[in-house]
Amino acid sequence: MRTFAYERPVSLADAVALLDSHGPSTRLLAGGTDLIIRLRDGSARPGMVIDVKRIPELCPEIRERDGVLTIGATTVMADLAANGLVRRHFEALAEAASVVGSVQIRNRATIAGNICNASPAADTAPPLLVYGAVVVAAGPHGSRRIPISEFFVRSGLTSLEPNELVVAIELPVPASLTGAVHLRRTRRRGHDLASVTLCCSVNEAGVTRLAYGSVGPKPVLEQDETHVLANPSAPDDAKQVVLERMFAEASPSKRSMRASPEYRMAMLRLLGSRAMRTAIERLAEKRGAQA
Ligand SMILES: Cc1cc2nc3c(=O)[nH]c(=O)nc-3n(C[C@H](O)[C@H](O)[C@H](O)COP(=O)(O)OP(=O)(O)OC[C@H]3O[C@@H](n4cnc5c(N)ncnc54)[C@H](O)[C@@H]3O)c2cc1C
Repeated sequence: MRTFAYERPVSLADAVALLDSHGPSTRLLAGGTDLIIRLRDGSARPGMVIDVKRIPELCPEIRERDGVLTIGATTVMADLAANGLVRRHFEALAEAASVVGSVQIRNRATIAGNICNASPAADTAPPLLVYGAVVVAAGPHGSRRIPISEFFVRSGLTSLEPNELVVAIELPVPASLTGAVHLRRTRRRGHDLASVTLCCSVNEAGVTRLAYGSVGPKPVLEQDETHVLANPSAPDDAKQVVLERMFAEASPSKRSMRASPEYRMAMLRLLGSRAMRTAIERLAEKRGAQA
């Protein structure tokens, strides 16, 4: 590992000032489950590492106010998966967090680290896209809100400026009943990144949202406004046509060691159909519980 300067600021203003003055050769350290590996293998060679875990604004807190759930940047996967508010309103996000890595990884890995690493296989990305998350970023000119659909640029790159950091992630609590699920395919059980990661939601108005990752340079979000997917009496072949249109953006790499493009596309179709059925069933269960 090459040497680097290390700072652990205790205020957001200090962290932003450090980022601003040291430029793009700076890396932020949250749980370190991605960064430490990259420091060790030399694929990241920062001049400075800024530890963000002591910054109060980024603290691992999950709170709901005025119909918005705010998740602090340093919230770890284990806490996301166990949180009652997340499980109640954003069940697919809790599911995604519960399958990241292993117990040890989930106790360290943060939600901001997961999205800022910008891996196309990041498991929280599809549910955050489906639920319409907003990334709250802070920089030298104050804070700004970035819709998650504009956050991922390509593998390893987000729309954050080099002198910005993520403070929190906001999720609007769905206004109507919604059934949702997160599914993924890995080569084996246990520690493995997804060959396909996918989230589907269906709401009472019949709108289906589908987001998927690990099949291209960034996760993709699609929405079915035709209501065909959510319609139990729509013929299967009509549903397949809509699903196929939603998967048009998928472009799995031929160079991946994890799975061939053909396998990924087959799994994407399979998981898409399964997820749709489960989301519809969950919506029906919620309706039943309310009746
Ligand atoms: C064995 C193993 C298994 C794994 N399995 C999975 C898996 O199943 N699914 C999955 O999605 N991931 C998996 N990962 C990847 C990793 O655990 C996650 O991406 C994790 O969420 C990263 O969070 P972190 O806090 O550890 O990030 P760090 O390693 O601390 O940081 C990652 C990147 O994000 C940047 N960053 C961190 N915080 C901020 C912030 N607040 N603002 C701006 N930039 C920031 C850092 O500078 C760095 O570039 C695995 C990793 C390992 C080692």
